[in-house]
Amino acid sequence: MRLPEIEVLKLSASVVQKCDLATYYRLTQPQPLRPIYFLLGELFHDAVENVIDGNNPSEETRNALAGTDVNPKDIDLKNKSINFWHSRLERYLKIYLPFAETLRNAIKKQEIPFRFEYDGLILSGRIDGIVNENIGQIEAGIIDHKTSSRLPLEADFYYSLQTLFYSFAGYMMLGRIPSITYAVCYSAGKRAGIRLFTIQKTERDIEYFLKNMKGLQTRLQLGLVEPKINFGCRFCDYKHLCPARKETGDG
Ligand code: SF4
Repeated sequence: MRLPEIEVLKLSASVVQKCDLATYYRLTQPQPLRPIYFLLGELFHDAVENVIDGNNPSEETRNALAGTDVNPKDIDLKNKSINFWHSRLERYLKIYLPFAETLRNAIKKQEIPFRFEYDGLILSGRIDGIVNENIGQIEAGIIDHKTSSRLPLEADFYYSLQTLFYSFAGYMMLGRIPSITYAVCYSAGKRAGIRLFTIQKTERDIEYFLKNMKGLQTRLQLGLVEPKINFGCRFCDYKHLCPARKETGDG
């Protein structure tokens, strides 16, 4: 079997930790369409990156904000209306774009792809930005722009696989384990704002992460990708493919 490249953009820590089969599907199958989320995240990033570069948001983002090129069928999954989606994106941008402007001089590089081979393991992904100097609460290192529809907590990021991926990628690029700052724009009920979490991983964390990824790679290579029923099965994107789906209660 050809080994899937382990790609951070396709993974989420919760899936990797819960079920090898769901991890395998995420790495090898096309992602199921969930445009309401992907579109919002992509447009948010597009607007933020353009503001940091000193440009206006792209035509695509402007059109989406104006609601002129949105196909209702594409975004009406989960019964969320266009208006809901549209006002949420607007709300995030209203909060975050002034903050993004303050980062303009500190972020030198954006959207940095990485792909490293380590002991036969290929890890790839993309980093939102590298900050060259301390600015306010943000330390020099990697910055990641995020949105959240609930109040974000440090534990969401401290234990995330993405943090380990970025720490390792930063180490390979910069020669040291960088601090990772998650700048999270949240809108949760009446509460909204930006929360910053700066996380510093250690060499031991990176060693543990690489061992885990190597273990995952070996299990994928040997075809040892068993379904593991867990409380997230109800929300699994691949339950229609899962041989254990009857046991999940959704079969
Ligand atoms: S439904 Fe559950 S057991 Fe099946 S692939 Fe998804 S997470 Fe794994």
